[in-house]
Amino acid sequence: MRASRFFISTLKEAPSDAEIVSHQLMMRAGMIKRIGSGIYTYMPMGLRVIRKVEAIIREEMNAAAGIELLMPLVQPAELWQETGRWDKMGAELLRVKDRHGRDYAIQPTSEEVITDVVRSEIKSYRQLPLNFYHIQTKFRDERRPRFGLMRGREFTMKDAYSFDRDLAGLQASYQIMFDAYVKIFTRFGLKFRAVAADNGAIGGSGSHEFHVIASTGEDALVYCPSSDYAANMEAAEALPVAAARGAAGQALAKTATPDTVKCETVAALLGLLPLAQTVKTIALTVETESEGKLAKRYFMLLLRGDHELNEVKVGKVAGLAGHRFSTEAEILEVYGTVPGYLGPIGTKVPVTVVADRTVANMHDFVCGANDAGYHYTGANWGRDAAEPAIVADLRNVVEGDASPDGKGVLAIERGIEVGHVFQLGTSYSESMKATFLDENGKPAPLQMGCYGIGVTRILGAAIEQNFDDKGIIWPTAIAPFELVLCPMSYDRSELVKEATDTLYAAMQAAGVDVIVDDRGLRPGAMFADWELIGVPHRIVIGERGLKEGNLEYLGRRDTEASAVPLADIVSFIQ
Ligand code: ATP
Ligand code: MG
Ligand code: MG
Ligand code: MG
Repeated sequence: MRASRFFISTLKEAPSDAEIVSHQLMMRAGMIKRIGSGIYTYMPMGLRVIRKVEAIIREEMNAAAGIELLMPLVQPAELWQETGRWDKMGAELLRVKDRHGRDYAIQPTSEEVITDVVRSEIKSYRQLPLNFYHIQTKFRDERRPRFGLMRGREFTMKDAYSFDRDLAGLQASYQIMFDAYVKIFTRFGLKFRAVAADNGAIGGSGSHEFHVIASTGEDALVYCPSSDYAANMEAAEALPVAAARGAAGQALAKTATPDTVKCETVAALLGLLPLAQTVKTIALTVETESEGKLAKRYFMLLLRGDHELNEVKVGKVAGLAGHRFSTEAEILEVYGTVPGYLGPIGTKVPVTVVADRTVANMHDFVCGANDAGYHYTGANWGRDAAEPAIVADLRNVVEGDASPDGKGVLAIERGIEVGHVFQLGTSYSESMKATFLDENGKPAPLQMGCYGIGVTRILGAAIEQNFDDKGIIWPTAIAPFELVLCPMSYDRSELVKEATDTLYAAMQAAGVDVIVDDRGLRPGAMFADWELIGVPHRIVIGERGLKEGNLEYLGRRDTEASAVPLADIVSFIQ
């Protein structure tokens, strides 16, 4: 590539709405251009990185027996209604109508469509296992799009879906995808960690998230440096919490039909968490509508995978309106406690969520206890502010805690979720009647897994991990160009021009992704551009060096350039 024929547009200053380093640097390096909230044009320089990320993913997916197809962006509402997600997904699902007034979803993922493909195509166990994937635009109407490509509304995801005849098959497919993800993130050249994630409805170790480690990450990861225990905060807490609450949940379940449970208090509702697999409907009695909504939302948050739970029905009871608690005893008296819960978690009381009825849109609420006192007032209702605070309060995993596997103490670090693998089981295939004929000729539901990678988020995550005060430092595998040739006086020195053109051809022949900066910029401006853009290798070609038979090499992380003999340069770069 010749820079004069490419599009390069760099900025000295980042726009003021760019809050974190990756967003600032991507804007300054001209990789993306914002056209609306959470919606970006991928500019030529940024698109090159995206294409490299996609190519690595594609190679490893193909190597892991993934089969590529491409599912539509615009998907008929009927499919989404079949699984109930049309109603369940709420405002995050973008809905549109066509000229006939028919409803469509702009896909946030594609479980419904792939299940529809498979139910009409797959007849027999002989056709299994199968793993389909695509790399496609997604739209999620995020409550707070931010940080550039990190949390966009329109973004690119690789999503894969495996289909197996039984649970053992699903687990094998899952392991293949897990291993492929390890290869993919290793090839990106990023520091990452796979952590167990709480997949709520399915339980067990059926879900992992892949996180790029970065101090600016939104998620807290809990791991044990002396063993291989690693989990996200929710999953880390789910084990002891589930165990502790198991007794209460089971006691409740005994007094109810297996798929409907009635509970009188929010605390009891939380006690049902371990039963989430079997409970399909929960009838909750609360004082006010808003409290019910809050509890429902809270419960869903804890569940994470909300596929199994059909409904939390909310009914009202009188009394207690506007009540705030000031002592632990008072909370326990009013809401009761879940037996066993206090013990394993520590001395804190279970968190009880009470909507503050004085604020109509639930901006303010009181919940349970924290270190400072017996109630916690959230400033803002939502995942970004209050919800993690509640979850952290409830879950209480802290640095230095003993670990679940008894092999050391826990450490906490921050990460950016870049991938997620998930054993879905038969939830989609059952609701959409996707069956196959087993060896005995009997129809059985397909066992399904889903596997996502946030393609465009990778760019942000890679930069959060690799930058300095001059700009981005791309890992070579995903850099927009591997090498930039910076000729001094390309247009004025025949010697330089000839050496540059020869070297350019030699690098191309050697398979190096190289760009020549033939724009005629002064050296300072030229170097600043490439340091900002983050190209890993730079070679300066000048008359003086050439006369001595040398070129000047600078690695993006080097502090000083070194002279490399012209004769050795191709093998030096490779
Ligand atoms: P998050 O917790 O960050 O909202 P998620 O758990 O909702 O992500 P998944 O449904 O697991 O996301 O989707 C798979 C992958 O898609 C995620 O691991 C992430 O890398 C990426 N992703 C999800 N939402 C976004 C977004 N708004 N912008 C960019 N990438 C995203
Ligand atoms: Mg999300
Ligand atoms: Mg997530
Ligand atoms: Mg996820």
